[in-house]
Amino acid sequence: MPDAKKAAGFRGRWAWIDLTNRTARVEPADPGYCQDYVGGRGVQARLLADHLEKTGPLKNPLGPRNRIIIGNAALNDTVVPTAGRGSCSFVGTMARSPQPAAWVPGHKPVYGLVTHSSAGGLFPNMLKRAGFDQVIIDGRADRPVRLEVVEGSVRIVDAEDDLFDEVQGRRVPRAASLITDFLAARVKGASTLTVGPAGWNHVDFACLTADYHRNFGRGGAGAVFGSKNLVAVTAYGKDAVAYEDAEAFKRFGVEIDKLVKASVDDPNRTASFRPTTGTTWWLDRAFDGRYLGVKGGYLPWHNFDEGAFDPADYAKVSTDAFLAISGKHHVCNKCRHIFCTRSAKVEAGPYAGDGVRPEFETIALWINCCVLDRDAIFHMNALCNELGVDTMTFGSVMAGAMELAEKGFLAKFGNAPGFGDAAGMARTLKDIAYRSNDLGLLLGRHSDRAIAEVAAGAAPGAVSDIAKCLTTAYGGLGYAGINPKAFPGMFTAYGTSNRGRGDHTYAWTIQAEEGGLKESRDLAAYVAEGQAGKALVDSLGLCDFFTGDITAEPFLSLYSALTGIGYTPESLKACGRRIYALERRMNNLQGRDRTYDAFIPPKLKVPLSRGAHQGQAVDEAFYNSVLDAYYDAWGWSRSGIAGKA
Ligand code: SF4
Repeated sequence: MPDAKKAAGFRGRWAWIDLTNRTARVEPADPGYCQDYVGGRGVQARLLADHLEKTGPLKNPLGPRNRIIIGNAALNDTVVPTAGRGSCSFVGTMARSPQPAAWVPGHKPVYGLVTHSSAGGLFPNMLKRAGFDQVIIDGRADRPVRLEVVEGSVRIVDAEDDLFDEVQGRRVPRAASLITDFLAARVKGASTLTVGPAGWNHVDFACLTADYHRNFGRGGAGAVFGSKNLVAVTAYGKDAVAYEDAEAFKRFGVEIDKLVKASVDDPNRTASFRPTTGTTWWLDRAFDGRYLGVKGGYLPWHNFDEGAFDPADYAKVSTDAFLAISGKHHVCNKCRHIFCTRSAKVEAGPYAGDGVRPEFETIALWINCCVLDRDAIFHMNALCNELGVDTMTFGSVMAGAMELAEKGFLAKFGNAPGFGDAAGMARTLKDIAYRSNDLGLLLGRHSDRAIAEVAAGAAPGAVSDIAKCLTTAYGGLGYAGINPKAFPGMFTAYGTSNRGRGDHTYAWTIQAEEGGLKESRDLAAYVAEGQAGKALVDSLGLCDFFTGDITAEPFLSLYSALTGIGYTPESLKACGRRIYALERRMNNLQGRDRTYDAFIPPKLKVPLSRGAHQGQAVDEAFYNSVLDAYYDAWGWSRSGIAGKA
């Protein structure tokens, strides 16, 4: 373990906010935490664990005892490509199932999982320029407040009336862009992170929006802000990054920049597509194998029932269809070469407007609702940013709701849209965010509560048919845009992700499985290694799309030149494992064990009926063998309990 001396690169200051007592204090960062847990997500995991180990399990993530932390890492605001990603950690509201649930075999209560969310834009780097590594927020304010983190100081400020609208008789924060504009006028040059109406209304999959369209998206960070009466955090400062050895950092920085550029220039690397198509190249790859894929057939359709559908329909929402409305690059602060985001514009029609191109996951999960209207997808993506709704969980919840409506289970909740009804889906999005009606209230809650409500008063035995429609059952976050039936390794990544079932970002296996990886031990080891590696990427303040090897030279020398911390490949990898295992231990405390990991939504056991993966479904026996190997790879018990790292 490296010596615990104060590291350069970090600001070395944490802000502790107690909203209940309306106090804000600034304390030196713990240098030992910065070494053992690296930064960003890792340090936040340690700070969350300190809290939960003292207070015991948090049974209500919307209660004042939830802690939410926003922050950055040593590399943030340096010239390293993609060094603009920040971290937000909390106990999530969507991935929970606290009440008995007869539709889950052997159900055990899960009270909310430790969740990390990453966002880019300018906010994370501006928070660093304002003088802080982490802002740790506890308690609940007795009236709406916001935080100003400006040039080394932190203030809790009463939220101005201008930040609110009256909508359907309720006072809710205005759309994210209006709040951002208002606060940018108050603090010139500032960057703002804000809750939307959805978070204020405790929608369990509400996000936080930074810089208009960057989000701490998954898990319910917006709902946690709303539960704390916290409207926004505004950051501004001019502090420059301090280096242990600025000359050496510059030298290694040039080397790394060349490596990243070379990966983008190589047409055999997937990084080469990103500047043009962003993440949307995955649409074509998942549909028919274009963009270095093998055969496609795994773009989800009709609530994950299929992975293939009519190519003429697909053309309406393909990679090219979204390229046709794309404009200039619109990227995160400090992004270089990879440049995955573009502006977008729909010129005419009911969905005309300016914004950004939606991401692959958003589009894929709305195709899973059989929505084939590109302009409507663009419009709903912009609405999600304004209202503070996670596009991915929204897509999963809507696909389930459409199936429930198709089967007649939602009649008592009003006008639910069916598959393919884009206008109805956009209407329901607003109903959810503003809690406008019974349907909006129902769908804005974590799925096990929604299942219980739909089942109340239904015929005896109907509850299992209802639960079968929702792949988000038993505390699911919602599967991402790769049909889980086609890839056993990816299903393992989905099933074991620390932030909840369905998350795709903690491990990603598609290229490896398309390349032939298929034995249970190999899949398990690949997933476990990916999870530890991703914990490091998030803890370094980098983007998933950074292409260099972060546990090898010249990266280790660059990090040492920045911070003075001399990791070896082994010691840095050990940090990634330590972070991931710590999160798992907190999740064990919150009720998670193998029962949660092993749950397979019933519809995912029904084989695909067409396409390149015809006949494939999640195989329960094989999945259980991968789970055994997965726990072995981590050194955890076969019941999924993590020991001390
Ligand atoms: S590659 Fe995309 S998400 Fe990553 S830092 Fe650049 S613009 Fe942001």
